Amino acid sequence: MLVRIDLHTHSTVSDGTDAPGEVVARAAEAGLDVVALTDHDSTAGWTEASAAALERGIVLVPGMEISCRAGGVSVHLLSYLHDPTDAALLAELELTRDSRLHRARRMVELLARDLRITWADVEAQTEPGTTVGRPHVADALVALGHVPDRSAAFDSYLATGSRYYVPHHAPDAVAAVRLVRAAGGVPVMAHPAASVRGAVVGDETIRRMTDAGLAGLEVHHRDHTRSQTEHLLDLAHSLGLLVTGSSDYHGAGKPSLLGEHTTAPEVLERIADQGRWPVVGR
Ligand code: AMP
Ligand code: FE
Ligand code: FE
Ligand code: ZN
Repeated sequence: MLVRIDLHTHSTVSDGTDAPGEVVARAAEAGLDVVALTDHDSTAGWTEASAAALERGIVLVPGMEISCRAGGVSVHLLSYLHDPTDAALLAELELTRDSRLHRARRMVELLARDLRITWADVEAQTEPGTTVGRPHVADALVALGHVPDRSAAFDSYLATGSRYYVPHHAPDAVAAVRLVRAAGGVPVMAHPAASVRGAVVGDETIRRMTDAGLAGLEVHHRDHTRSQTEHLLDLAHSLGLLVTGSSDYHGAGKPSLLGEHTTAPEVLERIADQGRWPVVGR
């Protein structure tokens, strides 16, 4: 039997455009057997996604994507099946989410010097409790007619090198791996070589993360070229890391389609065995 597994999606709890239950419903409609919900720095979608998974007869892997940094470079760390009430992890996420809010407000202040935009325009694009990110500022810029879509906003006003860009607090990637393991989670580095998004870390950082307990690399991802994928496969093999593949679905916020990259069933078994929190719906 063919089992289709997609381990990286976003909902309106962060910068996706579908509610958590809708992400799960669409995953079922797309013919997936297993989907993970991995919103940025938040597990607030787990309850709704779990209910939808049971209703739709699809398996849910509760997860999250933690915004981290290593030597000034942005690193995204997926965490699967951690205890969502772990105090140390929650404290770190709270710092990030709070800093993200201040940072987005600051970016809007800088933009407002040159463009017509207010914080209320950004708030209109977010659900209460959302992990606020540049995509919400992008949606406000689109709604105001300043740019045609999110990608155009990221290519101009919101680019990392733009004069409107402001960084936010993020834990060190090696420390985050330890925090995830301490919370019973399974840490997998998201899109490790996605240089289209900006600078990426070298293999040495991935080695240090592996020494700290990293479980796997998200090798199969739309932001990797064929040669990057081959290099990551070699690296995962030499470091004894699991290999995953995922869509990084963001609803209408990005072109990725559910199930465009998938993960092997035996890899999911290893993740489920290592996680403290149960997989939902099996
Ligand atoms: P932030 O975490 O607030 O710095 O914003 C980065 C997020 O924006 C990433 O997690 C992506 O989901 C999203 N993103 C980055 N580049 C693009 C793009 N070109 N189009 C749409 N979304 C993007
Ligand atoms: Fe995102
Ligand atoms: Fe990411
Ligand atoms: Zn993501």
